[in-house]
Amino acid sequence: MDLLEYQGKELFARHGLRVSSGKAVTTVDGAVEAAGEVGYPVVVKAQVLIGGRGKAGGVKLAADESEVRTHAQNILGMDIHGHTVRTLWIEHASDIATEYYASVLLDRSAKKPLVMFSVEGGVDIEQVAEESPEKLIRHHVDPLEGLSHEEAAGIATEGGADADVVEGVADALVALYEVWLQEDATLAEINPLIVTPEREVKALDAKVSLDGNALYRHPENQSLADSENEDPLERRAKEEGVQYVKLDGDIGILGNGAGLVMSTLDVVAQAGGSPANFLDAGGGSDAEKIKQAVELILANDAVKAVLFNIFGGITRGDEVARGLIAAFDDIGAGGKSIPFVVRLDGTNDVEGRRLLQEAALPNVHAAETMNEAAEMVVALAAGDSVGAQA
Ligand code: GDP
Ligand code: MN
Repeated sequence: MDLLEYQGKELFARHGLRVSSGKAVTTVDGAVEAAGEVGYPVVVKAQVLIGGRGKAGGVKLAADESEVRTHAQNILGMDIHGHTVRTLWIEHASDIATEYYASVLLDRSAKKPLVMFSVEGGVDIEQVAEESPEKLIRHHVDPLEGLSHEEAAGIATEGGADADVVEGVADALVALYEVWLQEDATLAEINPLIVTPEREVKALDAKVSLDGNALYRHPENQSLADSENEDPLERRAKEEGVQYVKLDGDIGILGNGAGLVMSTLDVVAQAGGSPANFLDAGGGSDAEKIKQAVELILANDAVKAVLFNIFGGITRGDEVARGLIAAFDDIGAGGKSIPFVVRLDGTNDVEGRRLLQEAALPNVHAAETMNEAAEMVVALAAGDSVGAQA
């Protein structure tokens, strides 16, 4: 779960990392008002979940009200690498003497947290890693010991930080490590970590990703997930506890087990179709959960046909059939005349197929195999008719 810059800075501040004060706004007037509050000069910054905003024209300094107005007007609605700007962060501008880089993430192969630091900040760090790897310090931390101030000072010194700010950089690294650890982040990155002419060390940018599966441990971070950038259907799925990811196509997919759903996406693509979503109904889904999932899939207007691919283990075929029947009864899933293809196999599959046959739902087709199901659903989405009603 990626956070916007200003949300990341909120977490930074919580752990004692220095950031500039600012305000998030969504209108030009709001930007002007915020600038007056934080004090000129200000920086007007596009809030999108993608880097390289500066180069794209999404970060601008403003000395007075008319400049804020111009920049806010230009940046709001701007498209930055496919992300539309809806929110601006207005912060008091900083004077920059030097730009460093710092990050903390988990190195899975080493099974340890990795702290990275470089005095070549403010630029694309991948480029530094490639062209002058010796300028990017990589330091593994003992997860049981944590990162001590002395250790962090060692990293700063080794990386070539100016001697008078080694302590300040060490404080920042320790705070960043705490952000990463305490907030269950998968990545905490600052680029640039600046040194001001007054030799203060602070975070000018923030890139934080939180582990969505650990979010339940952080009720105070729940609202960050509710950012305006999240897809409304994905948000609804999360609230309902359904594993749902929206995709670009027109074929709704429901399966049980992440692996099976992934394979289903593949066979649909192989059959020339384009999935509209990933939806894992999970193990042991009951009829109610299946009904909810159908509602979610159909709430996406792009869906032209739906594929149910169930391999019953803990999930019982009869429960899935009951869920689909309930969905047709309650929400008139059939009324939308969207065709369904159902492939039921495994636990209670015979019973499930019998229930579907008895219910004689309009537009529901049975398939024996996964490949057959994929071909049928692709044909149906394209408006072709297929045989065998369920
Ligand atoms: P990014 O391009 O998405 O990484 O956005 P950043 O927040 O890193 O900003 C890009 C660049 O704008 C920084 O590397 C700085 O050089 C510059 N910048 C951002 N904020 C300020 C500021 O307060 N003062 C000055 N002088 N430059 C800034
Ligand atoms: Mn940056």
